[in-house]
Amino acid sequence: MTTIEKLLVLQDRDRKIRSLTQETVDIPARKKLIDDRMRGHRDAVAKIHDDMKRNMADTNEVELEITSRRQKILKLRDQQGQIKTNQEYRAIENEIATIQQQIRETEDREIVLMEAAEALRTQLALAEQTQKREQSSVESDMQSLDARLANIEAEISQVKAEREKILPDIDAGWLARYQRIFENKGDFAMAPVEGGSCGGCHMRLPPQQVHLARRGTDMVPCSFCGRLLYTPAF
Ligand SMILES: [Zn+2]
Repeated sequence: MTTIEKLLVLQDRDRKIRSLTQETVDIPARKKLIDDRMRGHRDAVAKIHDDMKRNMADTNEVELEITSRRQKILKLRDQQGQIKTNQEYRAIENEIATIQQQIRETEDREIVLMEAAEALRTQLALAEQTQKREQSSVESDMQSLDARLANIEAEISQVKAEREKILPDIDAGWLARYQRIFENKGDFAMAPVEGGSCGGCHMRLPPQQVHLARRGTDMVPCSFCGRLLYTPAF
């Protein structure tokens, strides 16, 4: 194996470690998004329940109001029976008419409340349905995310062990250069020559660099991005 071939194997392991490590950050973030969405559904259902409770309390209050006004009318009718003058009789008649008008207004309010209750029941059914539907898919998503997370640590240690095994075999000078570039670039340190251009930065390479890279014996850094050039074996 040439140094370049060894570095390509090393780079493969390094990239695996990097992406696995990224997953250990991404998975908890995805789980949190799912949790937030489910909390949103629960909050929506709880809010409708609150609105329903308030609606029921308001309806009870309105019904009590109507009952007490009807009782008041019955009392006034009783009084009318014992009254002597027409004037007094009419005064009570007027009072009853006023109360009847109030009852009609209260009944209108009750109808509005009943319609609101009906709308809330529909809303609740919909919200609960959405919540239930998502809950089942969320549970299996969460389980596979947890399983993945549990596996990643083991995978990382395995790839790290493979990496350690390769290291002593690689020339120290090349290795140091490779590691510095790999850290700096955030993607890869070894760049293939592709059609006379650097596969890392895509700049056109001087023919001399292409030629040297083809020989595969010297360290040939791209003169634009510094990545180490190699000619892919096809
Ligand atoms: Zn380059």
